[in-house]
Amino acid sequence: MDIDKLVDRILKDSKIDLAFETEPTQTVSKSVTENTPISGKDGVFDTVDEAVKAAKKAQKLYFHVSLARRKKVIQAIRDTLLPEIEEIARMGYEETNMGNLQDKIQKNYLALTNTPGVEDLNTLTQVLTGDDGMTLYELCPYGVIGAIAPSTNPTETLINNAIGMLAAGNAIYFSPHPGAKNSSACLIQKLNRIVSEASGIDNLIVTIKEPSIEAAQAMMVHPDINLLVVTGGPGVVSQAMKSGKKVMGAGAGNPPTLVDETANIEKAAVDIVDGASFDNNLPCIAEKNVVVVNKVADFLLYNMEKAGAFYVKELSDIKKLEALTVTAKQTPNKKYVGKSAEKILQDAGVSYNGHPRLVLVESTPDMPFAKIEMLMPVVPFIRVPDFDAALAVCLELEHGLHHTATMHSENVTRLNKVAREMQTSIFVKNGPSFAGIGFKGEGPTTFTIATPTGEGTTSARNFARVRRCVLTDGFSIK
Ligand code: NAD
Repeated sequence: MDIDKLVDRILKDSKIDLAFETEPTQTVSKSVTENTPISGKDGVFDTVDEAVKAAKKAQKLYFHVSLARRKKVIQAIRDTLLPEIEEIARMGYEETNMGNLQDKIQKNYLALTNTPGVEDLNTLTQVLTGDDGMTLYELCPYGVIGAIAPSTNPTETLINNAIGMLAAGNAIYFSPHPGAKNSSACLIQKLNRIVSEASGIDNLIVTIKEPSIEAAQAMMVHPDINLLVVTGGPGVVSQAMKSGKKVMGAGAGNPPTLVDETANIEKAAVDIVDGASFDNNLPCIAEKNVVVVNKVADFLLYNMEKAGAFYVKELSDIKKLEALTVTAKQTPNKKYVGKSAEKILQDAGVSYNGHPRLVLVESTPDMPFAKIEMLMPVVPFIRVPDFDAALAVCLELEHGLHHTATMHSENVTRLNKVAREMQTSIFVKNGPSFAGIGFKGEGPTTFTIATPTGEGTTSARNFARVRRCVLTDGFSIK
């Protein structure tokens, strides 16, 4: 049956004003369920086509519910998942075997509590009035968003994207990483049940049982997908761009941190160790290089060791680490992505004391640890003669990705210069990198930083189309 006709019939038959402010949701849900020819339990389908079609039908219904109802949907997600957040984090952690549980809990908690909802749409609403009437710019849903999630933040990306995309009035097809398929499917089913109960509409969030690269590519070119939001490495972002659809690409980074001689070095040391070891350096925003001017390098090192870093300077040890963590193709060895500092030191055969959470490797900018996005708590420590050299190295190592950079300095002119030159989507001054996604830093949280396509730290307003609505000769009362 034609989906559009089906939806029209449901809307007509239900005799319900979907722009409700009261509580009629179950009736709508029943109506949808009774009429649907599509199989699938709590949003998990066998095929991409079934899932996308179900989401399309759901979005058509969702478009007609009130903003008040949308807000209730978002609130229901927050309220229902809050007591389960530790369990959700644990599922992702255990399935991917990457990162560390405490930090995963923090990340999931942040995604749930600090992702903006419907209120985010108001920030870009604009009204112009004058002699010729009124023009209104409004943010409207795209329809069905195809959202691709990474293995590094599996459940946190789903929670963050679900809140933002539903707040903007969309339905979502999630394409999780195959390495996180069970935790993702479980969370998607939970989300689906919550959203279905709060909105009265089934299948606003869908996926398939067996996610794969091939299925993700089929989804990318499905005619009923209206927008692609891709969170992952460079391969998947460029693949999505071949689809001919609008893409928000949240790709890879290699964030440097610059420390100059004016910085509060004790604080910088703690901030960098905290940021670079957070979830074993899995976040794309985490410090991946330390670039420090000579004058304060030893003092920074001393304080970073105090804060939990282990310093490796012998060439033989550096070679052991490199052999373990970098492949012949100059990519990170996946076996060690997101593993702990201790596990990496042990497997490399490098002896160490205590319980370090970060490995600092004496490096030069041409070493693989420095150039490659390693996604593990093995971070180069690079000494440079002065501030200008530091900036040059940071620019080189960031590879023009414009993703994230951090800087520790009390010199405002320099802070301004680096912010301007790096042109990164996130630039954190005198703090850990995670302050840039709202953890111990002001502002909302996102796990989708759309750098190649320029949206930066995404939220509901980015998941909506801007529409211009004009009324001539009226509504100007100036
Ligand atoms: P990945 O690129 O291997 O996979 C990401 C997603 O894309 C997965 O769902 C995967 O199944 C899919 N995928 C991969 N290649 C594909 C292809 N050719 N066609 C279709 N789908 C494909 O990345 P990962 O290892 O899961 O995550 C780490 C990467 O993601 C890092 O590079 C990190 O910087 C980046 N990342 C970026 C952000 C951001 O906001 N910018 C956030 C998190 C992670």
